[in-house]
Amino acid sequence: MMLYESTRGGGKAISSAEAIKKGIADDGGLYVPGEFVPISLEDIRSMISMSYQDRAKFILKGYLDDFTHEELADCTDKAYNTRKFSSEDIAPVVMLNNSLNILELWHGPTCAFKDMALQILPHFLVKAMRKTGEKDEIVILVATSGDTGKAALEGFADVEGTRIIVFYPDGGVSEVQKRQMVTQEGKNVLVFGVEGNFDDTQTGVKQIFTDQSLFLKMGEQGLKFSSANSINWGRLVPQIVYYFSAYADMVKLGRISFGEKINFVVPTGNFGNILAGYYAMRMGLPVNRMICASNDNKVLTDFIHTGVYDRRRDFVRTISPSMDILISSNLERLIYELSGRDSEMVVHWMNQLKAEGFYDIGQTAHRLLNEHFWGGWSSQEETLKTIECVYEDYGYVCDTHTAVGIDVYDKYVITTGDLTPTVMVSTASPFKFNASVCKALSMDGTDDEFVLLKKLSEKTGQPVPDGLKGLENKPVLHGRVCKREQMKNVVMEALGI
Ligand SMILES: *Cc1c(COP(=O)(O)O)cnc(C)c1O
Repeated sequence: MMLYESTRGGGKAISSAEAIKKGIADDGGLYVPGEFVPISLEDIRSMISMSYQDRAKFILKGYLDDFTHEELADCTDKAYNTRKFSSEDIAPVVMLNNSLNILELWHGPTCAFKDMALQILPHFLVKAMRKTGEKDEIVILVATSGDTGKAALEGFADVEGTRIIVFYPDGGVSEVQKRQMVTQEGKNVLVFGVEGNFDDTQTGVKQIFTDQSLFLKMGEQGLKFSSANSINWGRLVPQIVYYFSAYADMVKLGRISFGEKINFVVPTGNFGNILAGYYAMRMGLPVNRMICASNDNKVLTDFIHTGVYDRRRDFVRTISPSMDILISSNLERLIYELSGRDSEMVVHWMNQLKAEGFYDIGQTAHRLLNEHFWGGWSSQEETLKTIECVYEDYGYVCDTHTAVGIDVYDKYVITTGDLTPTVMVSTASPFKFNASVCKALSMDGTDDEFVLLKKLSEKTGQPVPDGLKGLENKPVLHGRVCKREQMKNVVMEALGI
């Protein structure tokens, strides 16, 4: 059976169901599989004719080997279908030009790539709870700066055995993001604004999570808190699937010959998405390079260049907000591999990061890092320019996060001369971050976001995605805003305890 161990070496190795249920290890480490499931070229060949759902089952079964075939089929069917996704292919690959292809991960209900994982995680979680003998109902608590909250709401809405409560900073999210959340339907969902910024909201949620008296009261009612954050194995593992799927589609579309290596470019924040690509490579996917794209918060670019991770810098608010991160939590899983799975080393680096704000992985690990990764970044001006150029040259409209990736890819080709066929992992629909996209396309950006959606649709000839259509007319179901100090009471009231 596949067992999961903590990157920090503590505790015993556990099953995938237990790892998904726990989220984070007791020693603060992240769960990693004891080994990478080998996928042969013949396996990959067999995936070419499969649907996305079947590709998903094929990859997932190696890691979630304590789940039955029926359970995995139930999870993939509920997550990846055309009621939830606007593309039958779920994660289609489209050609931009001779060398660059786009893997569109934003056809899910919230128009951003987090749906790829958050549509399936709730089903993993419910099954994991039952499998490990838990009878309690799960209460998911989320503090969101925008994207994750809505994706989690869509994923958990009406999933039997779960409830979800989302807190967002009132005034700290865009108008579209707020509307997406406060109009959320579902009998098990609640959404509250919090007076303050994202940090206040997150601190409030963390306090609720660790409140012992609340924990006991919940237990009496058969309720248990859980989180859906991006370090959970149940969020990482479904992301491996689309790297294999993209490769199979590249062969199917005649873009590469079978067995040929390709590059991936990934707009990166918390390092979850790109790490899944690295895992795919370690499993046997023919990958030449993983290209890590950052915005002004280029802590990862510097890390790849120097081998030193240094968060001692100013945080920049950019037009690609989902990549505005200075501590990429999933990077811990990569440095675990780069150190030769040396958990003592990982503990040392993580402690140093906490105490001094930086760590240095040393020459050997740095050399290994550079064998597989290339890092670059794009300024906000360059990002806007890229949106404009891509539209002019190819008639393709991309969002700000994807544009960061395309700009970094151009820099990669200029610097290295490498013309290996490449897949750009596109993480959001252009309609999701429409204000910046309209600005880049020299449209009048002074209108409110709902008017801009229509204007962008008219200009590009693409329909406004279902998840964003008519948002301004939907009834507000969750209008309440509370103070930071009231959050615990709000939760207790909501749960009837
Ligand atoms: C979350 C997110 C990212 C960053 O992904 P990580 O897995 O955190 O690196 C990039 N783009 C968009 C649109 C996102 O929502």
